[in-house]
Amino acid sequence: MDQYSPYQSNEDRYENMEYRRCGLSGLKLPILSMGLWHNFGFIDNFDNARSMLRTAFNCGITHFDLANNYGPPAGSAEENFGRIFHKDFQPYRDELIISSKAGWGMWPGPYGDWGSKKYLTASLDQSLKRMGLDYVDIFYHHRPDPETPLEETMRALDLFVRQGKALYVGISSYSADETAKAYSILQDLGTPLLIHQPKYSMLDRWVENGLLDVLGDKGIGCITFSSLAQGLLTNKYLKGIPENSRAASGRGNGALESGSISDSNLDKVRKLNDLAIHRGQSLAQMALAWVLKDERITSVIIGASRPEQILDSIACLDNKQFTLSELETIEKILKD
Ligand code: NDP
Repeated sequence: MDQYSPYQSNEDRYENMEYRRCGLSGLKLPILSMGLWHNFGFIDNFDNARSMLRTAFNCGITHFDLANNYGPPAGSAEENFGRIFHKDFQPYRDELIISSKAGWGMWPGPYGDWGSKKYLTASLDQSLKRMGLDYVDIFYHHRPDPETPLEETMRALDLFVRQGKALYVGISSYSADETAKAYSILQDLGTPLLIHQPKYSMLDRWVENGLLDVLGDKGIGCITFSSLAQGLLTNKYLKGIPENSRAASGRGNGALESGSISDSNLDKVRKLNDLAIHRGQSLAQMALAWVLKDERITSVIIGASRPEQILDSIACLDNKQFTLSELETIEKILKD
C-alpha cells in the first residue's frame, strides 16, 4: 500500500460479496463484516490497520464495527478509524455502515459505565467526535445492565435515532428474555430493534437456546462476534501458540484467556481442521460458513491482525454448503 496515494476502491467490490437483509428491516449487511476490537488501537501499526480496512472494503465488506472502548487504550480504535476514514473513506460514506457501542466501563465515576441515559448520551457524543462523524449507522447498548431500568436504556437509544445521531439501534449480549423486552419497549417508542450482536461459534452455542428463535420470530437481525473463537477455530494454534498471535499477546478475553487452548479443545480443532481440508477450505472458512448456514444470521463480524487473514476468511463464500453427514461429523467432534 502506498500510504500517500489517494485510495481508490476496487470497482468490482460488490460482485463477489453476498448481502443479507437485517431481519425485517430495509438494511442489508455483507455476510462478513469487519470488527475493530483488536489491532486498530494506538499500540498497533497504523498502516496495517489502514491496509486491513482497504482490503475489507475492496472485497465488498461495507460494515465496520466499533465500540467506545476498543483500543487499547480505550477510544483509540475509534480515533484511528476516524483518521483512516478521513484519509480514505470519506467519498464512500454512503456506501458504509459504521457502528459503535457503549455499555462497558469507559471513564471513572458513576456515569462512565453500564446503561444510564447519562452515560450513553455522553459516550455516543464522544464516539462521534473521535471518529469525526455526524452520525453512526448503528448504535448498540453493549451489554445488559441489571440495575438501570430497561426503559431508560431503550429510551436513550430511541432518542439518538430521533436526534439523527444514529440511524438504527441494536443490543449486544442480551439474553432471549431481555431481548424480547427490549424489542417491545422500542416497538412502543416507534424505533425498531434492528439487530442483536451475540457471541456465537462452534465452541460457544448459547444463542441456540432461545435467542435465535426470538430474533427469527420478531424479525430482528443477528450479527455474531468471535465466530473464530478469537483465532482458535483457525489453523493458527494447531502446533502450539505462535508468537504473532492474540493468545501470545495476552490480549483478548473469554476463549483465549480461560484456558480454552486446552488439549481437549485442540483435539477438536485438529479434527475440525481435517474436515475443513476434506471440504477444500481452511478451518477459518469452515467455521464462518458453519455460522452462516443459519439464515437468521445476517452477518459474522470477523477480526483480523493482517490483510491476508481477511482474504482467507472471505473465501468462505466459495463453499458455504454442508452435507448432512458433514454436519453430523461436526456435532460428533464437538461432543466428544
Ligand atoms: P474472531 O473470532 O474473528 O477472531 C479474530 C482473530 O482470529 C484474529 O485477530 C486472528 O488472530 C485470527 N484470525 C482471523 N482470521 C484468520 C484466518 N483467516 N486465519 C487464521 N487466523 C485468523 O473475532 P474477534 O474476537 O476478534 O471479534 C470480531 C469482532 O466482533 C470484534 O472486532 C468486534 O467488532 C466484535 N466483538 C463484539 C463484542 C461484543 O461484546 N459485542 C465482543 C467481542 C468482539 P491473531 O490476532 O492471533 O492473528
